Amino acid sequence: MTSIPRLGILFLLSAPSGAGKSTLRAGLQKDQDFAYSVSCTTRAPRPGEVDGSDYHFLSREDFEAKIAEGAFLEYAQVHGNYYGTLKSAVLDALRAGTDVLIDIDVQGAAMIRATDHPEIRAALVDIFLMPENIEVLRGRLARRGTETPEQIALRLRNAETEMRAWKQYQFALITSTPESDVAGFRAIMRAERSRSSRLLFDPLS
Ligand code: 5GP
Repeated sequence: MTSIPRLGILFLLSAPSGAGKSTLRAGLQKDQDFAYSVSCTTRAPRPGEVDGSDYHFLSREDFEAKIAEGAFLEYAQVHGNYYGTLKSAVLDALRAGTDVLIDIDVQGAAMIRATDHPEIRAALVDIFLMPENIEVLRGRLARRGTETPEQIALRLRNAETEMRAWKQYQFALITSTPESDVAGFRAIMRAERSRSSRLLFDPLS
């Protein structure tokens, strides 16, 4: 990353289940030039998921206590469970000039877009990872094999609802190969990092 001081950018990524978002995230995280915001959730860990690194896995009670404390920048119920982004971690990173990636659903994205928090408004870049059509998702979810047929049906219904929101995002990245998805996302990151409004230096001084 450049050493020129600048404001941190909040890269918000949404995609319907099965669009390839985890693969994209893993590809992006090969370069550690941003912080990934670990969300809180009440859903059970999937095999291989690690508490504190994939999610902070919380009980419903603990999650609701954090809602009451105002600890979340946004939260939503997705597929019957709570998911939320911790405010303090995101703001601390942005203030330190570190870019942050958050992977959240369309309801959470709408909540962040509606914020009147000036730092978040200035930092926000939202990107929707978009499959070409719903059949691509059906195939991927079936192959993943981590959900029951009922859960797949629920996720597909939710995916259709989520895909209707794609025009609310500044960027739409149409899914292709994993390499191409990473390259597309990286191109957006690179351009956003060059915005003059984010750079905090005076080349003439
Ligand atoms: P999964 O259970 O497959 O990990 O995630 C389900 C959905 O919840 C995904 O669309 C994911 O983007 C969303 N999600 C994950 N973390 C958050 C969060 O902190 N807030 C919101 N609103 N959605 C989240």
